[in-house]
Amino acid sequence: MRAVVFERYGEPAEVREVADPRPPEHGVVVRVEASGLCRSDWHGWMGHDPDITLPHVPGHELAGVVAEVGDRVTGWRPGDRVTVPFVCACGSCPACAAGDQQVCERQTQPGFTAWGSFAQYVALDHADVNLVAIPDDLSFATAASLGCRFATAFRAVVQQGRVAAGEWVAVHGCGGVGLSAVMIAAASGARVIAVDVSARALELARAFGATECVDATAAPDTAQVVRELTGGGAHLSLDALGAPATCAASVNGLRRRGRHVQVGLLPSPDGLTPVPMARVIGLELEILGSHGMAAHTYPAMLELVRSGVLRPDLLVTSSIPLPAVPDALAAMGTAPGAGVTVIEPWS
Ligand SMILES: [Zn+2]
Ligand SMILES: [Zn+2]
Repeated sequence: MRAVVFERYGEPAEVREVADPRPPEHGVVVRVEASGLCRSDWHGWMGHDPDITLPHVPGHELAGVVAEVGDRVTGWRPGDRVTVPFVCACGSCPACAAGDQQVCERQTQPGFTAWGSFAQYVALDHADVNLVAIPDDLSFATAASLGCRFATAFRAVVQQGRVAAGEWVAVHGCGGVGLSAVMIAAASGARVIAVDVSARALELARAFGATECVDATAAPDTAQVVRELTGGGAHLSLDALGAPATCAASVNGLRRRGRHVQVGLLPSPDGLTPVPMARVIGLELEILGSHGMAAHTYPAMLELVRSGVLRPDLLVTSSIPLPAVPDALAAMGTAPGAGVTVIEPWS
């Protein structure tokens, strides 16, 4: 098969022929029809993810067709249209037993702990636990975005953030996951403030339901702007970028007893990020994380997609073939495109 491979962190990836994957006995091989290009792939390529071993094939937001099934898989057959959360759970550890597959103790992640979906085929573990059937009327390109950014945003806003109608929700960073969060919060009846440095990203955020847009290049203290717009602060705020400045701005823009959800990854050499904890104490703020979404909770989200309340299809703004991936991957660090770019490995 053809795949996007890199041998060294931060050096150009290349498209080449590699061996086809084989399914693990509890897993499947999926023929990849679409794969989202996500900022987490850029972090992996830069060497920020300790789980990656070289050479490596990135890609973790995928949709496709089951091509081959391991001996112990009971629920899936070749030809099934599927997607998968980027966290593939084991199905048997205490976290999985509690229904929290998104924080499985023995999780694997295609594109991080193993070769991913910037390829024509990808192997996935524990298929009976992790695969999600795609409704016939949902395209592969749209379904691919559900596996990481849209599902992560859904969990951050609805499950972890406990959004309620009428609340103010601030979203710091309007890339793929941020725009997804804007759409989901607006559909939940919240008043949404989008914050970004890109005029194009803010334009999309407004189209997806943001009532206020804050250009961070014009207003360096975005937390103060959020507090002014909301009469005291947001009820719920997300750092959807993953940077010390946006994390702090999100916390500082909350009202009393507000909830901050950290969505964007925050890699740092010592694993630590400064957070304004004095404000967390004084205002009784909640600090929450969001790490993907368990496959068994997809049906509620898919129903909102099916009924048209949520439109992840609108987030997909471009489609590229495998040879365009190395440059697009490198560009994610400096100029992440507005909306979601989907890779179509057979085009
Ligand atoms: Zn588990
Ligand atoms: Zn992702």
